[in-house]
Order: sequence, then C-alpha cells, then structure tokens
Amino acid sequence: METLKKNDVNNDGALSWHAMTVEEVWSKLQASEQGLTAEEVEKRLAQYGLNLLPPPPKKSPFLRFLLQFHNILIYVLLGAALITILLADWVDAIVIIGVVFINAVIGFIQEGKAERAVDAIRGILSHEAMVIRNGRKSVVKVENLVPGDVVFLQSGDKVPADLRLFRTKDLRVEEAALTGESVPVDKSIQQVENKVSIGDRNCMAYSGTLVSYGQGTGMVVETGQKTELGKVSALLSKVETLETRLTQQMDEFSKWLTGAITVLALGTLVFGLTIRNYSFSDIFFASVALAVAAIPEGLPAIITITLALGVQRMAKENAIIRRLPAVETLGSVTVICSDKTGTLTRNEMTVTTLVTAEDVYLVDGVGYDPHGGFVKNDQVINPDEDPLLTEIARAAILCNEGSLTQNEDGWTVQGDPTDGALITLAMKAGQNGDFCNKEYPRTDTIPFESEHKFMATLHHDHAGHGFVYLKGAPERVIEMCSRQRSGGQDIPIDQSFWLGEIEMIASQGMRTLAIASLAVGEKRELKFDDVRTGGLTLLGVFGLIDPPRKDAIGAVADCEKAGIGVKMITGDHALTAAAIGEQIGLKKTDEKVTGQVLETMSDEELRFQVMKSDIFARVSPEHKLRLVKALQANGDVAAMTGDGVNDAPALKRSDVGVAMGMKGTEAAKEAAEMVLADDNFTSIAHAVKEGRTVYDNIKKTLAFILPTNGAQAGIIIASIMLGISLPITPLQILWINMVTAVTLGLSLAFEPPEGDVMKRPPRLPGEPLLTYLLVWRIIFISAIMVIGTLGLFLWDQSHGETLEMARTTAVNTLIFFQIFYLFNTRYIRSPVFSKEGLTGNRAVLIAVFSIIILQILLTYMPFMQNIFGTAAIPLGDWVRLIIFTIMVFVLVEIEKIILMRIEAQKIRAQGN
Ligand code: ADP
Ligand code: MG
Repeated sequence: METLKKNDVNNDGALSWHAMTVEEVWSKLQASEQGLTAEEVEKRLAQYGLNLLPPPPKKSPFLRFLLQFHNILIYVLLGAALITILLADWVDAIVIIGVVFINAVIGFIQEGKAERAVDAIRGILSHEAMVIRNGRKSVVKVENLVPGDVVFLQSGDKVPADLRLFRTKDLRVEEAALTGESVPVDKSIQQVENKVSIGDRNCMAYSGTLVSYGQGTGMVVETGQKTELGKVSALLSKVETLETRLTQQMDEFSKWLTGAITVLALGTLVFGLTIRNYSFSDIFFASVALAVAAIPEGLPAIITITLALGVQRMAKENAIIRRLPAVETLGSVTVICSDKTGTLTRNEMTVTTLVTAEDVYLVDGVGYDPHGGFVKNDQVINPDEDPLLTEIARAAILCNEGSLTQNEDGWTVQGDPTDGALITLAMKAGQNGDFCNKEYPRTDTIPFESEHKFMATLHHDHAGHGFVYLKGAPERVIEMCSRQRSGGQDIPIDQSFWLGEIEMIASQGMRTLAIASLAVGEKRELKFDDVRTGGLTLLGVFGLIDPPRKDAIGAVADCEKAGIGVKMITGDHALTAAAIGEQIGLKKTDEKVTGQVLETMSDEELRFQVMKSDIFARVSPEHKLRLVKALQANGDVAAMTGDGVNDAPALKRSDVGVAMGMKGTEAAKEAAEMVLADDNFTSIAHAVKEGRTVYDNIKKTLAFILPTNGAQAGIIIASIMLGISLPITPLQILWINMVTAVTLGLSLAFEPPEGDVMKRPPRLPGEPLLTYLLVWRIIFISAIMVIGTLGLFLWDQSHGETLEMARTTAVNTLIFFQIFYLFNTRYIRSPVFSKEGLTGNRAVLIAVFSIIILQILLTYMPFMQNIFGTAAIPLGDWVRLIIFTIMVFVLVEIEKIILMRIEAQKIRAQGN
C-alpha cells in the first residue's frame, strides 16, 4: 500500500477522491479505462461487499406484538378484566384476557401480512448500470458494482455508486437526495480542494443523485454504506408506511366513532345503575362488552390488507405500485394520457418506405430480420448499384446507438427500436455495422432527446475528412437543411416537395424520420450550433411501421365504457398519431393538436382544447406538464405516462404518474406512482380496474362491519332500556365480536371485481366513503338485526325455553343474520341471487363454513357451554332462526331493486 498524501484523507478518515487527479485515482484503485476483469470483480466483491444500503431498521416482531395492546379498547378490556378479578369472577377474567390476547394475535398476523405484501413489491424493481468490464460494455446489476468499475452515465440515470468522473459532456446532476439542492449541478473532471463541501465537488457523482442532462463516465470509488448516501442514510432512513388518505380518513373516523361509543356506553352504564337497578358488576361488564362490540377495531387493518391485496393483484398485471395511495387514486382516474410509441404500439419498428429526392423505395421483409430487398418503380433493384441508397444505409448505421443480435427467437434490438429498424434497413442494403464503424470512426455525438427530436454523429475517414450524419423528426431536420441530394449532386432543397412526401407517409400511420449529412473538415467536436447553421444536405426520409398492440385496442374500448378518456401524447407526426389513434379506437382524432400550436395557446384555451381532442403530437415533455394542469383545472383526475428525465415534472404533477419499466429512465420511475413492467397501456387499464375494486371492497367491508357492530351493541342497549334480561351476555358478545372479525369481516377484502366495475363512470373525486346509501344501510340493517334477535329471544322465552337456550338461539340468530347479510354485501347495488353472486368468493364460503363450525362447537360442546353459558338447542330452533334470518337477505335484495328503480327514474328525469 502506498503512503497517502496528507490531503487525501478527510476528517472522518475516508479518502478524498475529489481532491485527487484522475491518474491518482486510477492508481489508487488499481484500475483502468478498460475496466476490471471478471476475477478482479469477484475478489473485490468479496472484499467490499455488495453495493447495497441496509434496509431501514424495522420494528422487531416482539415490539410489533406488544404494540397491538396499545389501543384504548384494549385498555378498557384490561380494566374490565382487572375488575372481574377483584370480584373474583375468574371465568370472565380468563375469557376477557383470552379475547385480548387473541385479538392481539389476529392484529399481529394481519399487520404482518400487509407488510409482507408491500415488501414483496419493493423488490420487483431492479436497477442496472452500464459498465466497462474486460474492455467491453455490459449491463450489470447495481449491487454488483465494486470500486474500480467504470460506469457510464446519461440523462435520466440514477448514479449507482460514488463516482470520480473522468469524462463528461454537458453533464448535469441533480443532487437533491444528498444536498437538498434541487438545481442541477454542472459536472467536470477537475479535482477540487479537499475541504469543499459535497455540493461543490464537481468532479464527483454521488450515489442516489439523478443525471438530469448530458453524459459522463466515472470510476466507482465507494460503494454501499461507504458512499455519501450510505453515510447519511442512517439519518433519513424512512420506513415506508402503509398510510394513505383513506387509512387516515378511517383513523379519524375510528377515533370519532370510539368517542361516540364511549359516551353511549357510559350513558348505558348510568341508565342501568340509576333507573334499572342493575348491579354494578353486571352493568359495568355489559357496558364494556357494548363498547367492544360497537367499535370496529379491526377496520384499519382490514383496509390496509385490502389495499395490499390490490397492490399484489396489480403487480400480477404488470403494474407496480410505488406509492400505496395511488391504489385509491387509480380507482377515480377520469383521463389517461398515454405515450404512443411502445405503450399503445408494439415498439417493433420496421422501415418499409424510403423517399429520396427522385425515388420511392419500398422495403421488403418483416421485423428486425435483415433479409429483404428494395423495390423501386415495381422493379427489384440491386442496392450496390444505387449510390444514394448505399450512402443512406451507411448513414443509418453510423448515426445509430442501437445494435441487433440473433438468437433462437430471431432478431432482437438492443437500444432504441427506431435505431434497430435502421440497422436492419442498412443490412438489407448490404452494409455491415462493424465494418462501417471501423472505416469511419465516431469522434463525437449529440444524443437523441425528445426535446430536440434528432441525433447527430461526427465521423472521420482515414484521410481525416470529417462529416456529420444527422437523423430525426423530418420537420426539424428540414429546418437544418439548405440542400438535398439528387442525381449525385447537392442542389437547393425543395421544402414543399418533402413536406408533401412526409404527410403522405405519416397519414398511413407510419413514423417518419429524415436523414441528412454535412461535411465539416477537420473538426473533432460536435456542438448544437454546428448543425443549426442550416447547411445540411437532406438525403432521404424513412417511413417506419409500428403496429398497434392488439390488446391496447380492447383496453381503450374498456376505458371508454368505464367513462375514462384516453389521450395520446406523442413526439411523432400529427398524421401518424391520428392514423394510429383511429386504429386503436380513439374518438376525437380529427382535432389534432401539435406542440407548436399548443405553445401559442393560453391556459384557458388549452383547458377547452383538451376536451375536444384526443391527439397531441410533436409535443415535448414540458407540454405534458401543461396538459396535466389543464386537465386538472377541468376537474379531471389524470394519469400520465412518461419515460424520460424531462417527463418527471409531469409525472409528479399528475394524479397518477406512470413510468415505463422497460424503456423508462430511473428519473421517471422515481417521480412516478406506478411503474409498468411491460410498458403496456393495457396494464394501466387493468390497474384502474383493480383500483376501483379495492375501493369497492373497502366500501363493502364498511357496509358489512358497521351495521353488524351496530346491531351487536344495539341489542344490549335496547334490552337495558327495556329492562329485560340480556338476550346475549357480555361474554357471548365478546365471542361474537371475535369470531366474526376474523371470518366474515375479513372475507370481503378478497372480493373479485364486480362484473360492471369497468362499465360505470369513475367515482366523483370528493365522494365521501360514507355515502347516503351506506348510512341508510347501517340504520336499516342494525334495526332489522336488533328487532329480529330480541323478538325471537322473547318468543322463545314465552314458549317455555330456559334462559340459556333462548340466549343460545339469540347468539346464533345474530350470527346467521350476519352470514346472510354478508352475501347481500358482496354487491352493493346489484342483486346477488345468482350462482356467481352466492359462490363467487371463496373467502366468503370458507368464512361462512368456519363460523358455522364454531357456532356448533359453542352450542354443543360442554366445555364451551360452561364458559359461555350456552345450552344445546333443538332442531326446531335452528329452523326457526334460519327462516327468520334469511329475511334480512330477502329484504336487502328487495331494497336494492327499489333503489335501482329510483335511480333509473332519476336518470330518465335528468335525460328529459
Ligand atoms: P414518441 O416516443 O412519442 O414516439 P419520440 O420523442 O421518441 O416520440 O420521437 C419523436 C420523433 O423523433 C420521431 O417521430 C422520430 O422522427 C424522431 N426520433 C425518434 N427516435 C429517434 C432516434 N433514436 N434518433 C433520431 N430521431 C428519432
Ligand atoms: Mg420514443
């Protein structure tokens, strides 16, 4: 180990990479631009460990279990247990403590389940980096980076480790994750003084920051916990919570409800003591049981589980949720703004047309397979004898960032499919990529960006003559050209001819792309101004087909039925966009808006325009932000897709930002709420469907739990008010509360989507969870259950049954009321009397089956009879109680029919 210079070390003992020259860093790391060898990587991985940050510390399971007891309700119950102990009422004490304990176990399991679901999703998104190893470019998982690795950065990347930069081109990095400063910093390769702060170490790119512009190459100097991010992450390690607007609303609602029920329980206590002369211990225990029965303590956990289940189902449909609140928002989406290329279309490009100043070539062959020929004027031609075609093919292969490979499945592209299609075309024309690149080495590049919509490369032949090839959106390219190639000569450009040809190609739904050249002499560097001078020569224009995804057509139709608008947002030509839009079934394709026109519009005009048009073409990322704002100003809830670093603001602003998992940048994924693993529009539609289902299921759970809890409490209150013996004892109430919470109450979280989820309009954004319908149901159902149970109890008693038997019947009556009502609640509005309606949810069937078993045990096992004061009841009681309770099912179904009639009438009235 060589001795370190004094200024190489920081206060904390770490090396000051930013203060060393590039050469010093190379030698210190014993690495070179050729990258490390595979063996060296192995060795260093063993030495330095994986490039990972430890996950944020989690609560230990034991602590999580203890926290289950941290709950007012549990305190009340424990208080009750204490009092029963003081009264030497051992059975009650044991049962209450048992109930408390079982409740804690249930809560613990439910919470763990929800957490695991969220953990599982976190792991899906892997993160890769482009490196040089063994002298070759390759893509590796970020956790496998080691000090000494050479890493490429480009706009949109997340810096994967701490890098000492040694090559930069307009590199700008946004370091907010580390410094809090959101303005991007310009990077260079000059070392800086040892003492400068992180934000000013311009020759470093730190792990976790985002490249917002340009490109750079650096060597890894620190990984994992040794990185600057690793050092601070202990401070900001945020445990991802499961909180959403809904769970917050529910928490508030629960608090309010708990307060109200406590008051009610106290009132009952006072009333029972003063007016009805119950003994204190009896009435106290009854009031506690009443409170426990009425408070829906399991609700928050059930809602979290419902959300987590939704997230899991979405993940199966390739929609990966990054932020849990998005699940709810998805259910209320009214507009989806979607990229065209790759999302609505397959992103499998093939050049089928080439227009030059003199000729139109048709190109044979399918996909990326480089077999196929050229037809000109109905004649198959030999490309070698066509100098212009040969030059265009060479330009296409040189001005290109992609590559093709052949495997068993055929030919596939690495990189941009547009680039891949051009390589295929060039190979059809007899060109060879490796050969061209050796013959005309590239010295500089302006990479493609959606903003400027072109890319250019600078090459030199062996004689040292420099020339530029530039390809891009034809309207942009034409602006830069003053000449065109015709008959081997460069003659003044005929703009209107080209514009006509471009429209002809675009109106067939093809993507258009122009290619041009410029001779530059000795130049070794390529700047924007070099090509903006307008001195280029236009060689030709390509037409590329990119067929729509078949399933996207169905998904767009589904969205339409679901009252969700679909807007196509694309960088392509307006006519291309409109033609594809028509193929996939968009409606408002006539009034196309281009980025140019959009720029002249005021915000007001744009608000109006977004209602009239489904096609937005030749737009750049900042237009997306304006579109989102316009939609939101109209009251829409907008989902917006994006892939580039500049899409981030629009993704953040939209209600649900959707990033592409395959072609998207890290910057876009970070900004998004949801990532599409397959880049497919269909997955968005699926996610919306799941989002709606989750919301439905939460509503159904509420519609079930609130009235059943209400009824449990209502029975006690009513009998104390009437001054009769309790039809259900406090212990029995605790039993009911416990067994229904784990069986019936949870089963609606597993409801599959209703048949019409995607056939009704989106819910209104501000709509409260407790709709009038729900409030009405709570009152209606509570009343039926209280009256039914009390009535049967009194009838049994007056027909000579013992108190124990009458109570046992009452308990079973209440349980069966809940069972039948559970079936009603499977569909909030539509009738459930069908095979699907009765058997469609396995969780419901399992829950019902288990609770019936539990009730039989409660009724007939001597052990249970001793604890809960139950008694065996004859078959006749069962028959009576089932006939009785089935009434709730019938009544609710009748109520639904009446309700639907009323609603239909309302709609008709509105129509007139
Ligand atoms: P979208 O993703 O909506 O299709 P892009 O911004 O990718 O839009 O493309 C816009 C236009 O830029 C295309 O119509 C094409 O003319 C041009 N273009 C696309 N990809 C490339 C590329 N790799 N190199 C040069 N030009 C391109
Ligand atoms: Mg694109």
